[in-house]
Amino acid sequence: KIIVTGATGQLGGLVIQHLLKKAPTNQIVAVARNLEKASDLAEFGIEVRQGDYNNPESLHDAFVDGTKLLFISSSETDDPLRVVQHANVVKAARDAGIKQIAYTGFAFAEDNPFALVHMATEYAIRTTNIPYTFLRNGGYTEFFVNPSLKANVENGTIITNANKGKVNSVSRSDLALAAATVLTEDGHENKEYNLVSNNPWSFDDLAEILSEVSGKSVVHQSVSFEEEKNILVRAGMPESFAETTAFIYTTIAEGKMARTTDDLQKLIGFQTPIKEIVIKALQG
Ligand code: NDP
Repeated sequence: KIIVTGATGQLGGLVIQHLLKKAPTNQIVAVARNLEKASDLAEFGIEVRQGDYNNPESLHDAFVDGTKLLFISSSETDDPLRVVQHANVVKAARDAGIKQIAYTGFAFAEDNPFALVHMATEYAIRTTNIPYTFLRNGGYTEFFVNPSLKANVENGTIITNANKGKVNSVSRSDLALAAATVLTEDGHENKEYNLVSNNPWSFDDLAEILSEVSGKSVVHQSVSFEEEKNILVRAGMPESFAETTAFIYTTIAEGKMARTTDDLQKLIGFQTPIKEIVIKALQG
């Protein structure tokens, strides 16, 4: 059986959709901490089991008779707690006799100050000697390209402190297809994939695409870190989130999100073009 954690989340839900096309329904098990949230998954005929990263016993029961496990990293924001949660998942997978663990980490984790938990989790998985596949996901394009862009079209500007930096982001759906692929194909044991775009975009590019798609002129304006943070806070964003967002833009400006690989292209054979994601975002 293929067991998917985080199945009630955005990435997990897309993985299940892709898996349904690639594997028999009775081979797919969705793990949810909140069974009510998983009722739509049960309607597809998938077995749903309760499992909470904070509760090792529930995880063990959820993983019994699983062959492959897709371990989707926790959305917990407290890093020390997240490390414990991830250790619980790894131990439960080992004790339940899982034969392959695919884990969603972060692309080029060694270079990324936000990715220490992913490095620790990859290390923990290696210590089990269970064959692994590290799906080191790039940043989600939907973090930048989402329905809030409608306001940018109205204002005619995108304001960031990303300067001319390029972004190697990937759509969640492409990352979900990559996960479903490694879970249903042979040959991905003990491999790590940095799943980033091989055609990164800049905010100048995004402004151009927005202009083209909307028919209104949109330009990208780059400001300082402090200015960006203040603009986001004035627009109603909580201060900590505004600071994190501005920090991500700084990372982009410094070229730290511009590295490319062909790993995604090789796994799924294509990448959803950013223009397509922009069109969807403006419709949403
Ligand atoms: P979501 O927040 O949509 O989904 C997170 C999933 O993890 C949900 O199913 C959630 O359950 C589950 N989860 C959280 N805490 C627990 C717990 N204690 N026990 C069991 N399950 C739990 O995130 P996405 O699907 O968009 O992304 C998946 C993961 O990728 C994130 O959790 C995060 O680790 C990472 N991420 C990656 C980013 C990137 O740009 N590559 C950006 C942001 C996050 P529930 O539905 O009950 O909340």
